[in-house]
Amino acid sequence: MKDAVILNLITLETVGSSFFKNYSWIIFLSLLIIFVALFAYYIWISKEKTAKLLSEHVYIDDVVGYSNYTKFCQDASVMLKYKDRQLAIVYVDVSNFKSINDFYGRDQGDRVLKIVADKIHDLVVPDGIFARHFADRFVCMLSYMDIPNLSYIIENYLAELALDIPGVAESIKISCKCGIFEVTDYEEDINEMVDKAAIATKIAKESISETVVVLDSGSSNRFARNQEITYMMEKAYEEEEYKVYIQPKYSFLTEKIIGGEALVRWESKVEGQIMPGDFIPLFEKNGFVAKLDFYMLEHVCAMIKRRIEEGKVNVPISVNQSRIHVYDPMYISKLINTFDKYDIGKENIIFELTESAFTENTQDMINLAYRMDNLGYRISMDDFGCGYSSLNMLKSLPISELKLDKTFIDDTSIKSRYIIRSIVNLAHGLEMTTVCEGCETQEQVDFLKSIKCDIAQGFYYAKPMPAEEFEKLLDS
Ligand code: C2E
Ligand code: MG
Ligand code: MG
Repeated sequence: MKDAVILNLITLETVGSSFFKNYSWIIFLSLLIIFVALFAYYIWISKEKTAKLLSEHVYIDDVVGYSNYTKFCQDASVMLKYKDRQLAIVYVDVSNFKSINDFYGRDQGDRVLKIVADKIHDLVVPDGIFARHFADRFVCMLSYMDIPNLSYIIENYLAELALDIPGVAESIKISCKCGIFEVTDYEEDINEMVDKAAIATKIAKESISETVVVLDSGSSNRFARNQEITYMMEKAYEEEEYKVYIQPKYSFLTEKIIGGEALVRWESKVEGQIMPGDFIPLFEKNGFVAKLDFYMLEHVCAMIKRRIEEGKVNVPISVNQSRIHVYDPMYISKLINTFDKYDIGKENIIFELTESAFTENTQDMINLAYRMDNLGYRISMDDFGCGYSSLNMLKSLPISELKLDKTFIDDTSIKSRYIIRSIVNLAHGLEMTTVCEGCETQEQVDFLKSIKCDIAQGFYYAKPMPAEEFEKLLDS
């Protein structure tokens, strides 16, 4: 019995070990396969995750959390395949974003961009697409029924952006300028279409009144012309193509020349004479007018200085000063330096500041006028009646001359005549000299004389002429 048990145990042991001997490699192999499979699965999952993250990173704008421009271009090419819809590219530029970044830092700036992006998203998606192009610029592609309606919708919608943003001072409002480009050629390169919409935005940015500009042939021609002028302006300056013309000012009482206004003429070697109306507005936008104004002032000072040395008679010459000088903290010291350089009395020059400059930037302009007045410079308010300055403002301004705009005298109605008479009386009461611009007819001259307007400047007496001719006239 005992032997039998021992035998059994031996047999079991033998069978067990041979079983393990026979099958161990199978178990091992199975475990290995499971392990390899699990490992492969892990690798695959990680790869998927990384790919997903990577694609998100490639297509998502980190700052605003929506599609980036790469994704926009891909989606746009899909939209452009369906030619049954009218499509437009809308380019949005946050106007005063830089001041938010400067004053409140990048985090606040990023917050503002996110708010703008959310707004655009609500307007455009799901029918259209949009992305941040770069910095504070967004680009959208959407379908529309008609352009005036699209402009209207965008203008009103973006106006809502002018809401206060929490944490950003009330003085800083968000506003946007917008450019629209209508897609006509569905095969056109998407980047070129975006460039055109961006050009329309640039035109809107240059305009004081327009928020939304649709790029048509007129506006693109204007843009191209501005580009041309900008390209030529510096070279023209170096080559002294800007010429000083002077239009005489006549006393109504004596009918003699008692002054003159310096007016720039661009005598381009390429294009011939270009009038200030064709370049001064652009120079005011790109800042070049500041340089040009000092160029004119220097030439006039040099002329006066030379005439003093030659013992010739001088009359005060008016020079136009752009509104943009108000932003230059060095403006007054530049004036002082110019007068020091030519060593002429301040009574020889009258600085013309246009009325609209006072209404646009009232307090800064009044401050500038006072600083100039305290230093003894003479100031004239140009184009009076063109803007919307209040008569009340006249009493708080240190101006010695009021120039009535040509539009006043062109209106022959009894009411207009009454207004001119009242303004002349008012100016005299405030001890200002009155000048009427644009006198062209005997009838106008007779009327202005009858109301005791002091000075005439207009084609009736003389047109603007080269400074040398003006000098000859003065000496005759
Ligand atoms: P403004 O300062 O009001 O100059 C008067 C404008 O009226 C001149 O035009 C002059 O030629 C024109 N004018 C004078 N009398 C008559 C007239 O009887 N009939 C008509 N139809 N026009 C008359 P201009 O020379 O074309 O200058 C236009 C504007 O360009 C000036 O208006 C001034 O605002 C600006 N401008 C001219 N030169 C300068 C400059 O050197 N600096 C700056 N900042 N602006 C300038
Ligand atoms: Mg003037
Ligand atoms: Mg004027």
